[in-house]
Amino acid sequence: MQSMISETLYNNSQLIDGFGRQVTYLRLSVTDRCDLRCTYCMSEEMTFLPKAELLSFEELERLCSIFIQRGVKHLRISGGEPLTRKDIISLFHKMERHLTTGALQELTLTTNATQLEKYAEELYRLGVRRINVSLDTLDEKKFLEITRRNKLTSVLRGIDAALNAGLKVKINTVALRHKNVAELERMIRWAHSRQMDMSLIEAMPMGTIDEDRIDQFIPLSAVKDLLCETMTFQESTYKTSGPSRYVTVRETGGRLGFISPLSHNFCESCNRVRITCTGQLYTCLGNEGMIDLRSPLRADRTNEKLVRAIDQALLTKPRGHDFNISRRGQDPSVNRHMSVTGG
Ligand code: SAM
Ligand code: SF4
Repeated sequence: MQSMISETLYNNSQLIDGFGRQVTYLRLSVTDRCDLRCTYCMSEEMTFLPKAELLSFEELERLCSIFIQRGVKHLRISGGEPLTRKDIISLFHKMERHLTTGALQELTLTTNATQLEKYAEELYRLGVRRINVSLDTLDEKKFLEITRRNKLTSVLRGIDAALNAGLKVKINTVALRHKNVAELERMIRWAHSRQMDMSLIEAMPMGTIDEDRIDQFIPLSAVKDLLCETMTFQESTYKTSGPSRYVTVRETGGRLGFISPLSHNFCESCNRVRITCTGQLYTCLGNEGMIDLRSPLRADRTNEKLVRAIDQALLTKPRGHDFNISRRGQDPSVNRHMSVTGG
């Protein structure tokens, strides 16, 4: 039975998992390193992957091209902080041809924006139209507390540069119980006044950090209740390729998304897989299971072993994740940090 299913998928050019979901979205983490240390994402002292194990840009392009040939339409470059990888722009140069042919509908980026000022114009020239910028506060002191680095000014300059270059920017903000909940309304008004969509994200129990997640986590249902005291949310049918569920804020006319992996599981419509900078393929953010693509990638130039490994991985894509933050001292649901697979 198992071999029959593999055979079927091997011959099928589309990437369909064991539950009939089609994979059209690839997130690629180009480095697990970062110039910030967000308290919900990393600990201050991190052991990063050895640089020698990183896939080269040629290898990353080869991998992405196979996924694009098999139906991936959206590619998001993430990390760690993708813009800190040396010569990262050359990867965008390599991927541009897939946009030109139309095989790839969208090439996007998730960034903390500390280096964005330098890259914004070139990203636009290379076909990037939409980016996500992660920003959890507009307050300098809080920014230092949350990210442990004093870089808010560079981030704001990066956002300005992106908007000036013509990039559509979405602000992603993790709702943090004792840190930024009271500031969210101001951030929404700020983002919308600059024509930026914004999404709120629930903190996820991924990787060991220096704080207890229970002190960080707040369900977005509670955040929504708070915001509704001063704002009016109108249902919206707007949808991107990501997991945000959107409303329109009547007072601003802007869009607000909710990404609630804990309180509202969205796995039934999951269309994505993730690849790390060392070539590990994860079919689920909330699961430890992965398949190594680096060995088959390096084994031969025909891609045969690689395609077989990808098909095998698809069959292991679980129905859904099972994140849980319910008590103090709880181990993370998955040991890997979000920075390994990209957000
Ligand atoms: N460094 C880039 C950035 O921050 O945009 C890209 C990588 S970062 C891992 C991608 C996204 O994951 C960011 O929006 C970040 O806020 C989010 N993130 C990281 N750790 C998280 C966690 N434990 N729970 C929820 N979101 C997390
Ligand atoms: Fe770096 Fe992004 Fe993680 Fe913050 S969330 S530490 S910016 S990888």
